[in-house]
This record gives sequence, C-alpha cells and structure tokens, in this order.
Amino acid sequence: MIQVPRGTQDILPKESYKWQFIEKKLQEIAKNYNYDEIRTPMFESTDLFVRAVGGSTDIVNKEMYTFQDKGDRSLTLRPEGTAPVARSYIENKMQHNVEQPVKLFYVAPMFRYERKQKGRYRQFVQFGVEAIGVEDPLIDVEILSMLMHIYQSFGLKNLKLVINSIGDMESRNEYNKALVEHFSPRIGEFCSDCQSRIHTNPMRILDCKKDRDHELVKNAPRMYDYLNDESKNYFETVKAKLDDLNIAYAVDYNLVRGLDYYTHTAFELMSNADGFGAITTLCGGGRYNGLLEMMDGPDKTGIGFALSIERLILALEAEGIDIPNEKGLDLYVCTMTDEARDLAGTLLHKLRNRGISADMDYENRKLKAQMKDADRKNARYTIVLGEDEIQNQSADLKNMQTGETKKLSFEEMISTMEEI
Ligand code: ATP
Ligand code: MG
Repeated sequence: MIQVPRGTQDILPKESYKWQFIEKKLQEIAKNYNYDEIRTPMFESTDLFVRAVGGSTDIVNKEMYTFQDKGDRSLTLRPEGTAPVARSYIENKMQHNVEQPVKLFYVAPMFRYERKQKGRYRQFVQFGVEAIGVEDPLIDVEILSMLMHIYQSFGLKNLKLVINSIGDMESRNEYNKALVEHFSPRIGEFCSDCQSRIHTNPMRILDCKKDRDHELVKNAPRMYDYLNDESKNYFETVKAKLDDLNIAYAVDYNLVRGLDYYTHTAFELMSNADGFGAITTLCGGGRYNGLLEMMDGPDKTGIGFALSIERLILALEAEGIDIPNEKGLDLYVCTMTDEARDLAGTLLHKLRNRGISADMDYENRKLKAQMKDADRKNARYTIVLGEDEIQNQSADLKNMQTGETKKLSFEEMISTMEEI
C-alpha cells in the first residue's frame, strides 16, 4: 500500500475547516495592516537559496529538496519565503513602486528535509510577511505588533516574545571576531557543524541545537556589547515603542536566528503552554538589511516574519482552544420514493444555483436514517418528498432548530430559502 511521504500529512475534512478558518483570519489581519498577497512559484533556482539563505545554514546544508529538471537545471522546492519574495521584489523592480515600504504577505507550503517530529514536517504551510524598502524602527514595531495581534486574536495566552538586536554589518563583524576568539581554543568540544561554523558564520554556534548547553555558549560574549551607537539606538527605539504599545517582550542576547541575512531586530515567539512539546517556537523573523544588495538588487532593507500553521494549531490544542466549525447545510431533502428522488435532484439543482447549500440521500436509506444524516450534516432546514408532495407540488419546510414547519410550494420554498 502506498502511503503519504514521510513527514507529510493529508488534511482531511475533519481538520480542513480549521485551516480555512485560520487562513481567512490571517488574511484579514494582513489586510488590517495593509499587506498585500504575493504568490511565488513552488520551486526556484537552487542558487537563489544558496545565495540568499546562506551556505552555512541547516536549510541549505541539509534540508533542501533539490532536483535536476529535464533541461538539466538545478531547482529546489521552496524551503522558506523571504528569498523568493526578495527575488520577486528585485525582478519586478518594486523599489520603484509609489507606495513604500512594499508590504507583502504569503501563505504557502514550504519543503524541508528534516527529521520528523511533533511540530516538524517535511511539507508545512507558512504564513509570512515582508516589509521592504524603508528602514525605520516604526516598521519593526508594526511587524511585531501584527505578530502579537495574530496570536492573541485566536485567544492564545501563553505567549513569550523574545527579541534581540544583531546590529548592523559593522557591529556584526566585530562580534563575530569576538566569538571566534571565545570559541577557538575549545572548538574541539563542539559538534562538527559548529567546527565549520566557526569559519563560516560563528554566530550560528549560539543557535546550535546540539551544543546549546555548553558552558562556552552560555557565557559567550553578548552581541549587545558589540553594537555600535547607531545599532544600539535602533534597538533602544524599538524597545521603547514596544513599551508604548504595552507589548511585552524579553531580551535574549543569544537569539541569533538561523539565516545569514539578518541585521538589527531579530525575534521569536514561543509558546509557554503545558503540553506544547519540545518545540516551542511558533514564529521567527527579523530585519534583513543586507539581503537585497547581496542578491545584486537595490540598496533596500526589509523586515519580516514567518509562522507555520501546523505549529499554530498545536498551540491552540495545547491551550484547549477550539476553532469554530461553521460547516453546515441550508437544506436537506429527504425522499420516500424513486420519483421523489428524481424531483429532489431537480430541486437541488435550482437551490444550489441560487446559492443555497443543499443535499439529499444517495443511498436509498429509510427516512429515519435520512433524518439522522441531515442532523450529522448540520442541516438548518429539511423537507420530506413523498407521493403527496409530488401530487401537490408542495412540502413542509421544517426548521430543525425550532421544529416549526411551513407548507410551501416548491417555488415559494426556493424563494423563502433564498431570503433566509
Ligand atoms: P526551528 O528552529 O524550529 O527549526 P527555524 O529557525 O528553522 O525553526 P524558520 O525558518 O524561522 O524556522 O521558520 C519560521 C517558522 O516556521 C518557525 O518558527 C516554525 O513555526 C515554522 N517551521 C519551521 N520549520 C518547520 C517544520 N519543519 N514544520 C512545521 N513548522 C516549521
Ligand atoms: Mg529549522
């Protein structure tokens, strides 16, 4: 028997209503903040991710689904959304858009070859936003405020926003030098990834999942002490504005994020809920001032975040929050005879064309079973068609909630349903 590929899942109807609800809400909130949707291809040139995400990251080193197409091009299933959005920004010359920053969001499946565990899939759906073109602490705060707004709007309470500043390129270079000095003497005690990170991107040692408890990680130099005045000011302004908005946060000087292109503000949102499991990160993001130029694009800066709907759902489950299932039918047509079934087919055709959701029994079941089916399908109204109804061309429209019935001709019934 062929099964779904490892690390992927079917989202069946008993779950898909949650996804629809969440995606709709995310789109509404994005609209409130004036972010427009962008859709980029599911695959891109492999080079895009190697360059934009960076050769020293787990994504590029271990997690990409890369393949040659029949034209011998190296393509990669999109593992994250920022690089494709930046590519599109550059390609479509969005720096010339009248409105700046260009504010974009996406809801899209991502692919990473990872070890399967709770909250970690090989195909998962990310909602992400990017604001490109203006560097201003106000934008950083807008992004953080949208992020908190999203999670709070679902009723989640056990949230912890963690922020840090990685500083500008100058501060970052100084800091990297300090880290090399700090780790070099004992780098032999670290995992093989960290041993190469010290040459390619020392900051990533702080983000290592294997070595996170090593004493040298715990007492590593703090990024904050290496921020130049400009970077420090930027960070202090962001924090002050978060305070003004009463957005609670904690500063974690070791927070560096996995991707190479981050500068200044970096952040993660965690869940504190009991039972959330080992993985507590719901969302991550930050400012990426160097990215576009590094991709041969214009000298424009950006900031964004990405969250996965899978982990949002886990957080909702951990806090016992139900998503309303608005599924239901306007009308269920029960039938007693073959002739009635034919008539029901015609009626359904008319009802559905007028925008009324309606269904009937296709299994020739007894009336009682049909009523049960109507109940299961959450039908708001029912009618029963038998010989009498066909003869009189009318039926009793029954309100399933109140039990009230009303005798109506079929035409009256259609218009009544339309009004309701
Ligand atoms: P992690 O440290 O958990 O691997 P990451 O740094 O790789 O996370 P990002 O690339 O920042 O994650 O992705 C942003 C968000 O996407 C994460 O905070 C998480 O909610 C979600 N996410 C990342 N990888 C997966 C996955 N394999 N399955 C489901 N959700 C994921
Ligand atoms: Mg990861």
